[in-house]
Amino acid sequence: MSRIYPHIYFGDRLVDSEAATLHVASSAVLYGLSVYTVFNVHYANDTYLAFRLRDHFRRIVDSCRIIGIDTFDQEWTLEKFSAAVQETLHANDPQTTTFVRASVHVTQLIPGTRSRGLKTALSLFVYEALPIVPQTGARLKTSVWRRTPDNSIPSRAKVNGAYINSVLAKQDAIDSGYDDCIFLDNDGHVCELSAANIFLVRDKTIITPSTTSDILEGINRRTIIEIAQDRGMRVEERTVDLTELYIADEVFISGTSAYVAPVIEIDARRIGNGEDGPITAQLRTAHTKALAEQSDKQWLSVL
Ligand code: PMP
Repeated sequence: MSRIYPHIYFGDRLVDSEAATLHVASSAVLYGLSVYTVFNVHYANDTYLAFRLRDHFRRIVDSCRIIGIDTFDQEWTLEKFSAAVQETLHANDPQTTTFVRASVHVTQLIPGTRSRGLKTALSLFVYEALPIVPQTGARLKTSVWRRTPDNSIPSRAKVNGAYINSVLAKQDAIDSGYDDCIFLDNDGHVCELSAANIFLVRDKTIITPSTTSDILEGINRRTIIEIAQDRGMRVEERTVDLTELYIADEVFISGTSAYVAPVIEIDARRIGNGEDGPITAQLRTAHTKALAEQSDKQWLSVL
């Protein structure tokens, strides 16, 4: 388990850890009605660099829009959000790279199963940046649980309640001795992992399920695609069959807390050579650099 830093932003100010609580009768608790994101904060030379903060804020706003939470973007701008993140980091003063989890909770008490016009509160907490899958090679199991489709609980919205789907599939994978799951949709096409996007490499082409494949539109997924295209690699975003993964030269995953990790086994089948592949290694190195160094793309916000 990751260590949580003691000062937490809740509502409109910093509070101690014990005071950052939600009411048992709030929609956030009753229905899982919160949206969230997690981003990487790199620490170097007394400076905090938040990775693609603008995109994370945008995804929170978009998630609110999908769910119908309409009070958050009336009260919060990117500038105000960045200032709150900065205040939280400086209060905790971590001397290392960390993750920040930002959530918008619907704090209104028993309004019923609705989403509009309800009170919300932002929370921000800083925690230890531990990867959620082995970085040297993950072993994945196709889940017995299917991904929730866009017309049921949209995977494009990063909403807390929807993560029951991920909990079911991740626990099923762990119970079966694997590191994580592969979600399929109801037609058997590949979606993603419990909390990461998936890529395969075949004949030097990088292939990943499209944004209409019931996935979260991962910010690291986008980063990998941009890095690959900048290097002149061929990238396809399309429907992916499970058996394409089985015969891929390389499979890898991306995510804030998955980083970029090779997949070495799926459903008791060895993937590629059963080790880190050359394209995965190349993209991982570039991704690691992107997390820490200013680039012409201005992915990093100095906080
Ligand atoms: N899919 C799911 C279901 C996730 O929870 C995550 C983690 N946020 C990802 C993909 C990867 O997204 P990102 O690269 O933005 O962290």
